[in-house]
Amino acid sequence: MIIVMKAGAPQQQSAHIIQELEAKGLKPMPLYGVERTVIAVIGEERELNIGHLESQPGVDKVMRVVEPYKLVSKNTKKEPTIIEVNGVKIGDSKTVAMMAGPCSVESEEQMDEVAGALAKMGVKILRGGAFKPRTGPYAFQGLKQEGLDILRSVADRHGMAVITEVVDIRDLDAICQKTDIIQVGARNMQNFELLKELGTAGIPVLLKRGLSATIEEFLLAAEYILAHGNPNVILCERGIRTFEKETRNTLALATVPLVKESTHLPIIVDPSHGTGKKSLIEPMSKASIAAGADGLIIEVHPNPADALSDAQQQFTPEEFEVVMKNLEPIATAVGRKIA
Ligand code: PEP
Ligand code: MN
Repeated sequence: MIIVMKAGAPQQQSAHIIQELEAKGLKPMPLYGVERTVIAVIGEERELNIGHLESQPGVDKVMRVVEPYKLVSKNTKKEPTIIEVNGVKIGDSKTVAMMAGPCSVESEEQMDEVAGALAKMGVKILRGGAFKPRTGPYAFQGLKQEGLDILRSVADRHGMAVITEVVDIRDLDAICQKTDIIQVGARNMQNFELLKELGTAGIPVLLKRGLSATIEEFLLAAEYILAHGNPNVILCERGIRTFEKETRNTLALATVPLVKESTHLPIIVDPSHGTGKKSLIEPMSKASIAAGADGLIIEVHPNPADALSDAQQQFTPEEFEVVMKNLEPIATAVGRKIA
């Protein structure tokens, strides 16, 4: 941390700060300039109260020199985190983990039809929302427990793993009993109590980027889960809210190589919610793989036009099969295999 004192601040003001920092076990190193004093601070700065330091008399500004997260950082753990689910190694740099299925679980027949088709294509992780975070209260809210039961039995029948979303902390135990990966939706990325609880869930968590979250906030949300005991977090870029109206969200693909510079956690992309437009999902999936994504999560529904949520962005299984084939050469080109 670097503390810059105001021009002409009397020396007793910097001396007071130095004393305070030393009392906290840090090593302040003052540099006395002609106009100002600058204090370089050596030691663990993450737990320091920056607001308190900034409000001390004579302080002009306080600057961090290390990132505010620790456990998710490559500086703490050099090797990539690899999360194995149903034989799929997410984060091993050789795999594009494919997760697919409808936006919402609607019925046993719907899930069975889509899971059967996806399993034939080699998809090993089945998605489907049983608890749905909907913008309006009158929209379909999900089949809840019945949806979880359907997901589990259909996935087992077809040898697939399950990923499903937790919307409310009170449903966490019920969801954990039926799923292999818990999804935290964009709207819950900063539900800190939920994140803490997921630290003790004992199964991998897919953490989606919040609609207006910065990368730092995204990584700090992941840090909550790791700090509370769960090292198995998969990040998911799903687009952010911008002024653009042509796409549902703005899919920020630079996030993929960017977070790979600072974290050891795997990152996948959701081009379905990221674009909200069927025609854009294949090109953005290709771009995601080329950018180094460890996987994709894509919405597929047996009859998209009748879907109870996100009808406009879901592929039919037939359409998805073509997409899967078209993604193969891109994966091969970057030394990965779709699994
Ligand atoms: C979803 O995956 O169905 C979903 C609601 O996604 P998001 O949280 O990214 O909007
Ligand atoms: Mn959806």
